[in-house]
Amino acid sequence: MAEQESKLRVVILGGGTAGWMTAAGLVRRLPGDQYDVTLVESDEIGIVGVGEATLPHIKQFNDMLGLDEAEFMRATRATFKLGIEFCGWDRPGDRYIHPFGAFGEPWGGVQFQHHWLRLRAQGRETSPFQAYSLAVAAARADAFALPDENLASIRSTYSYAYHFDSGLYAPFLRSWAMARGAKRIEGRVASVERNPETGAVLSLSMQSGERVAGDFFVDCSGFRSLLLGSELGVGWEDWRHWLPCDRALAVPCDHASGAGITPCTRSTARRAGWQWRIPLQHRIGNGYIFSSDFISQEEAQEVLLANLDGAPQNEPRLLRFAPGRRNVAWASNCVAVGLASGFLEPLESTSIFLIQAAVVDLIDLMPSPGPDRAIDPRLADEFNRLTTMHYERIRDFLILHYVANRREGEPLWDYLRAMPLPDSLAHKMALFRARATAPEYQFGLFSRDSWLSVLFGQGLSPVGHDPLADGFDLALIDSKCADFKSRVDGAVDAMPSHSDFIAGYCAATESVAA
Ligand SMILES: Cc1cc2nc3c(=O)[nH]c(=O)nc-3n(C[C@H](O)[C@H](O)[C@H](O)COP(=O)(O)OP(=O)(O)OC[C@H]3O[C@@H](n4cnc5c(N)ncnc54)[C@H](O)[C@@H]3O)c2cc1C
Repeated sequence: MAEQESKLRVVILGGGTAGWMTAAGLVRRLPGDQYDVTLVESDEIGIVGVGEATLPHIKQFNDMLGLDEAEFMRATRATFKLGIEFCGWDRPGDRYIHPFGAFGEPWGGVQFQHHWLRLRAQGRETSPFQAYSLAVAAARADAFALPDENLASIRSTYSYAYHFDSGLYAPFLRSWAMARGAKRIEGRVASVERNPETGAVLSLSMQSGERVAGDFFVDCSGFRSLLLGSELGVGWEDWRHWLPCDRALAVPCDHASGAGITPCTRSTARRAGWQWRIPLQHRIGNGYIFSSDFISQEEAQEVLLANLDGAPQNEPRLLRFAPGRRNVAWASNCVAVGLASGFLEPLESTSIFLIQAAVVDLIDLMPSPGPDRAIDPRLADEFNRLTTMHYERIRDFLILHYVANRREGEPLWDYLRAMPLPDSLAHKMALFRARATAPEYQFGLFSRDSWLSVLFGQGLSPVGHDPLADGFDLALIDSKCADFKSRVDGAVDAMPSHSDFIAGYCAATESVAA
């Protein structure tokens, strides 16, 4: 009894991807004799049911839980993802891949892009920057193999993420977390009880009449943001002036008969937004993210349905959203994770990463158990600082795709080209233009190579490069470039097709497209 009382009771409201990632992370990392984890979810309300493309970090999360990769992939009908292909984002007809991997090698301590730019300036380089990435070459060839841990191998220069069925990941984690001590209460929360003096959340009252009391609450209630937004009244920072898309139409479709499974997400720019294509083992997820100021829902639906690989499996489903974030993610004794905390459109598959980052930060900053349940405000401050950093960096990266476009004459894209930028992004673009310099963060998103892929991919041309590159013998750099490209070609030739790799490694019981 004494032990039960000294445990810190963590109550998670919501059982979507955010709720079950939080529950799984907490039961994996927090000592069970000190923390009690209960999750409340409503089958009647259900989950948002989109969110199928991820970033490589998800593998670290799954590894932290100790999940078996092939079992997880079978259970969620997952495929591998080497990057995102952007079609028509600079101008209609062009395409580039943002790969999960490095471009070239930093010869002589000078980053690759400077050598490449120098060769180009001298008229010696005709290959695009994209030619210097193994992940790009493999994605274009629909090939896949697991990376090599040997750092001397060219196959150590990329990583990968997954596409998975959004309706299957949360239930997979639910079974895992419940087997390790997470408790689940099914039902709808009708009201919230708060301490009249401090404002802290005390308990959730279920429609059934049950009362779920806690010391610390995690709001994973999705766009509703029941605790942080509705109950605690934390305001919303609206980013719609930078990211004007506010609707999505989502529809799954069949694979085209005889087509292999591409190991990358595709994002195709459209007149009033963009269309995603996410290949899973058993179907393809599709959606049109659009701005309701620039196209009607009916027209968006026509465009979406006219651009599918195979027959649609359902009627398109409309989702409304607002880009932005809560002013703080942690207030009083409540922290929001997932859509309850904010939303950035899935252009770079960042929402699940934001959930993961929040869970990891929460584990590090979780209030201590014990008789004194007061929460040190410095924990909340630090969590909020980290959350702001993640959101703002991702926001800037997303805006970059839009602002650096040459789709002249299309009203949405004309607006985007002309809009004032956040200072933080304007600074990064100016540095790149002047000296081909891209951000390099020690933690979080995005890596320098990711920035370079989009900066070059969107057609930005630096006027200068690092002068240290000028000290190298040009013929030597020529031969290093040629050698790198031939190692890329050799590695891709030796890889199986993505479909064959899945068939041998993690095929779900349903058949995999040929
Ligand atoms: C169009 C679109 C495309 C997306 N694509 C991607 C992508 O490719 N990659 C990516 O990383 N992310 C993507 N996302 C984001 C991703 O879907 C979410 O981050 C993820 O699904 C997490 O959602 P959630 O768990 O926060 O909310 P939800 O899935 O909405 O879960 C909310 C939970 O709260 C419960 N709940 C709510 N109210 C109550 C109540 N009163 N009582 C009891 N329970 C309640 C619900 O039952 C549910 O269990 C996309 C989002 C959208 C809108």
